[in-house]
Amino acid sequence: MTQQVATNVHWHDSEVTRDERTKCMNQTGGTIWFTGLSASGKSTIAVAVEQMLCQQGHPVYRLDGDNIRMGLNKNLGFSAEDRTENIRRIGEVCKLFADAGVVTLASFISPYAADRDAARAVHEEVGLKFIECYVEVPLEIAEERDPKGLYKKARAGEIKGFTGIDDPYEAPANAELVVNTGEQSLEESVASVLECLRAQGLYD
Ligand code: ADP
Repeated sequence: MTQQVATNVHWHDSEVTRDERTKCMNQTGGTIWFTGLSASGKSTIAVAVEQMLCQQGHPVYRLDGDNIRMGLNKNLGFSAEDRTENIRRIGEVCKLFADAGVVTLASFISPYAADRDAARAVHEEVGLKFIECYVEVPLEIAEERDPKGLYKKARAGEIKGFTGIDDPYEAPANAELVVNTGEQSLEESVASVLECLRAQGLYD
């Protein structure tokens, strides 16, 4: 748990309630968090879901691993501490988007269960939905896809601490949704995600 450093800071409440914001946005915000190995299909699925929701007029926003590392988190690397801080900040950003009434799609390897649980906790403690979607794929298939050539580099020892090769991936034990992209088509995964969002009250 990250400690509060600044002293003499006081929470300033809004005059807008969650209900009022929901009416204003015409939807309830929440986060769906895609976790899985590199090349499992997290971004591909999130992009397709984002497009579908947007076309149907739903406020939606996508946060994605490399994109965030090129901005907000450009000062973080891939050590265990930095991975934890990366996910902590993203969890907080997702919470803000979700609180603003946006359906927030987060696609991050997020290999450590404790970090994902912390992201869940910051949502749930303020009554926001956090849906974990495990994008499962056998390592061999992810390695075969290797769209960015990263597995090849990791196997050659050019990247150290690569998830699934020489850094662990802790699969979720209780994800709200599991899609297996080794077995399901992109369309099937997208349909499962939409159905799950609907069941959780984040999409109609
Ligand atoms: P991640 O965000 O998990 O690192 P990406 O979405 O960037 O993964 O890459 C996954 C790659 O696998 C893409 O090139 C995508 O076209 C491909 N792919 C093949 N089959 C599937 C599938 N069934 N679902 C999702 N992606 C798939």
